[in-house]
Parts: sequence; structure tokens; C-alpha cells
Amino acid sequence: MIISTDNFVTVPPVLSLVVPLHNEEATVQLFYDTLEDLAPALPVELQYHFIDDGSTDQTLAIVRRLAQENPAVHYVSFSRNFGKEAALYAGLKQAQGDYVAVMDVDLQDPPDLLPEMLAGVMSGEYDSVGTRRVSREGEGRIRSWFSEQFYKWMNKISQTQLVDGARDYRVMTRQMVDAILSLPENQRFSKGIFSWVGFKTKYLPFENRQRVAGNSSWSFWALTKYAVEGIVSFSTVPLVLVTVLGFISFGIALVSAIFIVARALVSNTSVAGWPSMVTIILFIGSVQLLSLGVMGRYLAANYLETKRRPIYIVRSKH
Ligand code: UDP
Ligand code: MG
Repeated sequence: MIISTDNFVTVPPVLSLVVPLHNEEATVQLFYDTLEDLAPALPVELQYHFIDDGSTDQTLAIVRRLAQENPAVHYVSFSRNFGKEAALYAGLKQAQGDYVAVMDVDLQDPPDLLPEMLAGVMSGEYDSVGTRRVSREGEGRIRSWFSEQFYKWMNKISQTQLVDGARDYRVMTRQMVDAILSLPENQRFSKGIFSWVGFKTKYLPFENRQRVAGNSSWSFWALTKYAVEGIVSFSTVPLVLVTVLGFISFGIALVSAIFIVARALVSNTSVAGWPSMVTIILFIGSVQLLSLGVMGRYLAANYLETKRRPIYIVRSKH
């Protein structure tokens, strides 16, 4: 077959944008408009993959309209709210592009970083270019403090290193996305998974931005739960700590038992031992309960994995 050079047009690579949405009627149009404005300046063809994570507002209606207007807009709509992690997974599965970007819809992930991120992966130098907030301005003090502690301790107890302030916002090569999808676990902690799969990653720093409109879907408790999931998914150090704690308390109990028996032999006041006894019982009891609690978390994680439930259920798709 002869291919005439006249017909030969270089097609730009495709960048699939994976965008999770939960009650985002106030932001989704703004996001789309911002990216469409930016698109001509990008060396890629954009494909949108919106994942409606069980929104109860007009989000899906807006996304449907966008999909009718523009064939590059695709969506998946969940049967209920499955959480951002499930939405990201669904999006990564749908995305067919040569490059894939994960992005929040509220423009807290600055689209103007895209050209630089793309340059990093397209040059072949990096497999992934992520972003890192260097300030947390506009975020509550307490929330910032807890996040800081989480990253500090997580990096101590897990071999999977997390970058403090790193956002999920990143551009990845097809190869890296396939690697991420090859991890079959149900309780997905993307920040850990991105790091666990390896590959060469660069982080671009930027100043924190505020949400353009709407409200954050994450409460303090939701974040705490997410942090515990992260630890259980990527570290077994708490289990080891529990064993160490068990040994220490056994040692203390042994020493105090010897002390109490010796004292009873020397001075025959048997009732005097009562307070120390209660203290010891309480101490050992509390260590056991604590240990059981930690084990319980891992057991629960195990239990949820063995059920092999789907990570999400689609109600409609385009
Ligand atoms: N999100 C989601 N499912 C949820 C919660 C959030 O898909 O259950 C999406 C949300 O629409 C947004 C992104 O995840 O695109 C980040 O959420 P948000 O801005 O509420 O989080 P924050 O920036 O406060 O961490
Ligand atoms: Mg946000």
C-alpha cells in the first residue's frame, strides 16, 4: 500500500481529563469554559471524562448538555455517591488518551499549569508531572495542622512516600495509568497508589487557590476516615507497634507483680495491694483494647477486600 504524503497529517496526542463531580452545578460550566479557552494553546487534543459521583443537584444535566454540544465530552454517572476515589478509578478506566490528567472541577487545580505539566511528560523525561501546594492559605489552621502531621507520620511508618501538599492533580503517561489500573484493590488511596507504582515524577509547586464556587464535599470526619484508610492501606507498622506495646506492658506487669508479692511477704497488709492491682488491670485491659482496635481496622480492611465488590456502579454513560 502506498501512502501519499499529501494525506499525511500529524494528529496531536490526546489528553484525557478525568474530572470527578459531586454536587458541582456551580462549577462544572466554569471549569469547562476555562479549559476550552486554554485548549488552543495546548499541544494536545482534549477529551473530557466527567464522573458524576451521585450528585443530587443539576450537575448531571449540565454535563449531559455539554456532551451533546461537544463530542469530546464523555461522562459516567454513578448510581449513588461512591466517593472521589471510586470516581477517579472509573475515570482512569474510561480515559483512552495518550496522556491522562486528573483534575478537580473547582479550579483549585490551576489549569494554567497544564502546558508545563504536558511539556514534562511529552519530552519523555518524566512519566508523571504532579502538583504540590506550597501554601495552605485559606484553609483552616486545625485542618492544616492535621494534614501536616498525617504526611509526617505516614512517611515514617510507610515505605510508600507521600509528598506533603501534593494534590491528586497530575498528568500521567498511558503506561503509568495502566499500571495504576492494574492494582485491583477496592479501598483505593490514590495518593499512595500514585507513589507506589513508581515511575519518574516531577512536582510543580503552586500557591493554594480557593474554590471558585460551591462547597467542599469533605468534612473533617470524612478526611480523618480517609487518612486512616491511607495508613491501613500502605503501612502495617501499627500492627508491629501493638506487639511492641504488648511486650512493654507485659514487662511492666511482671515487674509490678514481683514487687507486690515481695511486699506482701515482708509486710502482711493484704488489702494495701488493692489500688496497684486495679491500676495494673486497667493498664493491661486498655492495652488489649487498643491492640484489638488496631487489629480490627486491618481485619475490616481485609474483610472488605475479600468481598470483591465493584468499586462503583454506573447508572448512565455517554
Ligand atoms: N468529589 C467527588 N465525590 C465526593 C467528594 C468530592 O467526586 O464524594 C469531587 C468534587 O466534585 C471535586 C473533587 O472531588 O471535583 C474535590 O472535592 P472538594 O473540592 O470538595 O475537596 P477539597 O478541595 O475541599 O479537598
Ligand atoms: Mg476543592
